[in-house]
Amino acid sequence: MAIETVGIIGAGQMGCGIAQVSAASGYQVMLYDISADRVEKGLATISGNLARMVSSGKLTEEARQDALSHISPATELGALASCDLVIEAATEDEAVKRKIYAQLCPHLNPQAILATNTSSISITRLAAATDRPERFMGVHFMNPVPVMKLVELVRGIATDDTTFEAARVYAARLDKTVTVSEDFPAFIVNRILLPMINEAIYTLYEGVGSVEAIDTAMKLGANHPMGPLQLADFIGLDTCLSIMQVLHDGLSDSKYRPCPLLVKYVEAGWLGRKTGRGFYDYRGEHPVPTR
Ligand code: NAD
Repeated sequence: MAIETVGIIGAGQMGCGIAQVSAASGYQVMLYDISADRVEKGLATISGNLARMVSSGKLTEEARQDALSHISPATELGALASCDLVIEAATEDEAVKRKIYAQLCPHLNPQAILATNTSSISITRLAAATDRPERFMGVHFMNPVPVMKLVELVRGIATDDTTFEAARVYAARLDKTVTVSEDFPAFIVNRILLPMINEAIYTLYEGVGSVEAIDTAMKLGANHPMGPLQLADFIGLDTCLSIMQVLHDGLSDSKYRPCPLLVKYVEAGWLGRKTGRGFYDYRGEHPVPTR
């Protein structure tokens, strides 16, 4: 089945990125979130990102206008009825995702494919909350979507080959490289990355080093392009905590216990860049460590 129209649920960092690259690759995109305001904010973000690409010579103004003309706002789930593929990129919370599927599925064409961008939650379990486990799978983009080359494809136990192939073709049209992961907690990238970030937070919590010392150590000592605390802020501390909880619950191993300091930051609403404060404070001209 050819995919032409892609619905995106969630106009946050990931949903906007997926909408942007899909539109730039010629797909018709419908972008949905819980309020018209959030969708409008998302569209403004995409427009700004594309404008920056024009300024840096990576895109022509014509291509920018063309990409923007491919994206339509959607303020109700029923508006996604004509989509061939819907990618859910809402908050990393299983209850939220289940509720979305229950409300969305009755509107969808029976042949439509439903995918989730979840960073960690079981694809098989999420699929079971839909009316189409055969046409459900994980299509896991990396952040920031327009920059990062990888997409992890994850089959649930029931995912059929046609669905998997359609997702592969879609990712190839976006010029992404695909890697295939089995459906285990946090898949490949986050199974490895998040325990490292959590350990960096323990290193801070136990006073081994300051925010700056830890990030500098890993940038210059391990040649990472970004320090782990900077990266945690970039991912979003709520998302980091959710992924650690999924690893901890799903693998029942105490080595995955989320650091209490990560929990405290999330409880404070200091979620990283998206809220202006996390391990760094982004409200001034330059990021300032908060510890
Ligand atoms: P975000 O907080 O930036 O955005 C989430 C969006 O979902 C918000 O705009 C919110 O309003 C919306 N939302 C919440 N409930 C909704 C509902 N019922 N209906 C529609 N929209 C709803 O989060 P994000 O970083 O974009 O993450 C989204 C998903 O992508 C998560 O599953 C996350 O695990 C995954 N992901 C995140 C990253 C990352 O680095 N942040 C990377 C890969 C995958």
